[in-house]
Amino acid sequence: MAHVSIESLEKKYSPKAPAAVESLDLEIQEGEFLTLLGPSGCGKTTTLRCVAGLERPTGGQVSIGGKVVDAPAERIHVSPDKRDIGMVFQSYALWPHMSVASNVAYPLRMRKISVDERARRVREVLEMVGLEEYASRMATDLSGGQQQRVALARALVATPQLLLFDEPLSNLDARLRQDMRSELREMHKRVGTTSIYVTHDQEEAVSLSTRIVLLNKGAIEQVGSPREIYWHPVSHFVADFVGYDNFVSATVVSTDQYGVKVLLDGTDVRLACPPRNDVHEGQQVDIAVRSSSVILGPPACEKPNRFQGVITDVMYLGDDFIYELQLGPHKVKVSIRTAEVANIWPVGAPRVGDSISGAIAPDSLACLPVLNSKVPALA
Ligand code: ATP
Repeated sequence: MAHVSIESLEKKYSPKAPAAVESLDLEIQEGEFLTLLGPSGCGKTTTLRCVAGLERPTGGQVSIGGKVVDAPAERIHVSPDKRDIGMVFQSYALWPHMSVASNVAYPLRMRKISVDERARRVREVLEMVGLEEYASRMATDLSGGQQQRVALARALVATPQLLLFDEPLSNLDARLRQDMRSELREMHKRVGTTSIYVTHDQEEAVSLSTRIVLLNKGAIEQVGSPREIYWHPVSHFVADFVGYDNFVSATVVSTDQYGVKVLLDGTDVRLACPPRNDVHEGQQVDIAVRSSSVILGPPACEKPNRFQGVITDVMYLGDDFIYELQLGPHKVKVSIRTAEVANIWPVGAPRVGDSISGAIAPDSLACLPVLNSKVPALA
């Protein structure tokens, strides 16, 4: 297990191109499972490849286990094979002409481990990923999920101090992705190796990680636990990326250590939001809320942060109903589990045109400063 330190990392692919990664500082503790999350092109893979030694940074410093492995200013670059890392790629990257066992044994052969010891460790790690019966099969004669398990076994076999994953589940179908996610969680609990994982899938990041780093245009937008990122996004960008689907413009009315109170623009709806020390009275903000966090109907009447809206559309999506409400100039989407509808309205659900009560728990609201005040009022 290793501590990884990334200081002022910069990577420019060409002198004229904008930096793919810029001024990136990150400390990854021993045993952490840290995920680099963000949209395509935000610099996740570049950062991971710099840690792996597959890309050479143009500035800053990378250390693994206390040893500097990259520092361009001092002309230090340690090659990937000398970094004691295991990597799992999206494309599996298995040797097609080798058996499963030979693929997994490869890193041990490179380290000149004895034949007996190799056989023992390959058996052990294949058992760990549930492929002990496939040892003599050709690697390419396996399903995608099994090939990815072989790639995982190969990354684990030499007990590296650091594991790096580059979108390892992207080529698998949805069901298999879920299974492999659980297996990766189990594997990390068991071996505890420091891991850095790249994905653009927020659900994958939230379910696997001890900490998430959200990247935007090569820089860190937010670092936090999955819960912090999911429930306390610091910016419109993060909220949008992690699935907030309502953004309503508002003005800050007051702020103290207990929370921020806002008035939704064009309405008399006042909402209490969690505390935030970087907003001030009179400031323009966006209030973000997930459609699944809004309560409708009689259950809303006892709750704080109540409002009244008019139903403008109802959509049935199988597991959920989506109610679209008009709230002054704003449209707000609310999703209600289909199974809950009959509990909420035992004598018949409301229809388009009906006025309806709603409420939003203060903790499920995110009050987001508007950086340039031209941000549109509605999602
Ligand atoms: P994705 O999820 O699509 O893989 P990413 O977040 O991993 O995206 P990177 O692959 O790190 O992003 O790319 C960051 C930026 O660097 C992008 O603008 C990309 O076009 C650029 N880039 C990446 N690799 C190269 C390369 N080999 N040469 C030139 N530019 C590159």
